[in-house]
Amino acid sequence: MKRSRFYLKEKVIRKQHNAFKGFLFLNNMDNYAKLLERISQASRLQKEELERKVEAKRAKLSGLVSKEGAIQIVAAELGINFDRERMKISELVQGMKRVNVAGKILNIFPIRQYNKNGREGKVANMVIADESSNIKIVLWDISHIALIENGKIKTGDVIEIGNAMIRNGELHLSSFSDIKQSNERIDNVVTKRVYHIKRISDAKTGQDLKTRAVIVQAFDPRYFEVCSECGKKVIDSECKIHGKVEPKRRALINVVLDDGTDNIRALLSNELAIKLGLGEEDIFSLEKFYEKKSSVIGEEKFFAGSIRSNALYNTTEFNIESIEDFSIEDLIKDLEGNK
Ligand SMILES: [Zn+2]
Repeated sequence: MKRSRFYLKEKVIRKQHNAFKGFLFLNNMDNYAKLLERISQASRLQKEELERKVEAKRAKLSGLVSKEGAIQIVAAELGINFDRERMKISELVQGMKRVNVAGKILNIFPIRQYNKNGREGKVANMVIADESSNIKIVLWDISHIALIENGKIKTGDVIEIGNAMIRNGELHLSSFSDIKQSNERIDNVVTKRVYHIKRISDAKTGQDLKTRAVIVQAFDPRYFEVCSECGKKVIDSECKIHGKVEPKRRALINVVLDDGTDNIRALLSNELAIKLGLGEEDIFSLEKFYEKKSSVIGEEKFFAGSIRSNALYNTTEFNIESIEDFSIEDLIKDLEGNK
């Protein structure tokens, strides 16, 4: 009986996946339309003519390249690059090279050391924002990283970046890229976290993810207590910083999400579980949770958060940070780009 129910669920997921594929296509088309517009302006060629070149290029490459990829090849062949052109963050699309952009630094993450195949190096991450969106910046060059270490670039500064490249929704700077402080002012920056819509099968550790998915499994909540002052875990109502406190109850629920491309183990806090129609008492009583569990399974929402590795179990897990209902308005909002 369990098997057949699962089979039904699978069928539901396949159906949703087909709708989802259409959605992804739309999202990619949105990028493509932006590129088409820009290249048409820069080349003074009609969009129709550019589209014919794109199709010819794709045919020549046996359809191995996406429309987005093909139009960038066409642009390069026409001698168009965005070398001198400053882009808005919301205009940046996957695969773009020689990106020039300016933004205000929202935060700088601690610099990490790495050792890959005996080669040591450093990598720095930060988030910059303009009035259209925000994006994670990845610095690999030690002279760039030194700007952070020496305090020449700090949170709140406006910086100009040149000759960078978009990879996995992040802007990567190599030693051929430029980064410098700017005297410009950028007001009304988008500080709200922007999640990139992707499929679970494309999600990688360290990245964010936003996907429309179905909860296919839910496990027993784990309960613990945190300090009401700082939110850190407490043992016997004692916080390492604040001493004896009135602790707050927290719960973490492990679920499995499936978006049709793959599934992933995900973590849900008690605050977010409420968005799935669970009450406090359903979350904090195992008995009540069992009663309500079946209503949680099959819930379809937009889930957003970050992918991280669980070193203990050597697995990846999706830390859910936001849950949104799926509606046409949300869809349009996402297509328009994270307003
Ligand atoms: Zn505390």
